[in-house]
Amino acid sequence: MITAHLPAGYVVGRTAQRYGVHPWLMAAALVGGILPDFDLIWFYFIDGRAFHHHHYWVHIPGFWLPIAILTLIGLHKWAPQWLPPARVFFAAILIHLLLDAIAGGVAWMWPFSNELFHMFTVPATHSHFILSFILHWTFSLELMIWALAIYLYTKANH
Ligand SMILES: [Zn+2]
Repeated sequence: MITAHLPAGYVVGRTAQRYGVHPWLMAAALVGGILPDFDLIWFYFIDGRAFHHHHYWVHIPGFWLPIAILTLIGLHKWAPQWLPPARVFFAAILIHLLLDAIAGGVAWMWPFSNELFHMFTVPATHSHFILSFILHWTFSLELMIWALAIYLYTKANH
């Protein structure tokens, strides 16, 4: 997934708002929706594109699982008022990883295996990988997420 993480986060936020009222639900969903891709900053500027950015910890479900469990248990005990946005935040991260797994590859088996799993292979049909992705049919999923997010946004703001 290249372009649709922010609108996907928005859809998660709108969905959460249907079931609960908390001022931080949308912010948690938007941040969680795009946070894994902050590793691109490392990928491009620090590591010189040395390895696939989906190998960074923010893209690895096996890192998030214990963090999510410990955070939710801790909040449940000491700050239950923050549980709703925390749940939405981790849900948005999970959605990000699921969307990345459609065509991009996610290390679902880590720490048992470093292999990146994906549902569909996007062949390198064009000189630049971005072009290959945009012209592959899986990109229509991104457009659908954008359409859904814009629909929900206009519905909520008029
Ligand atoms: Zn990503």
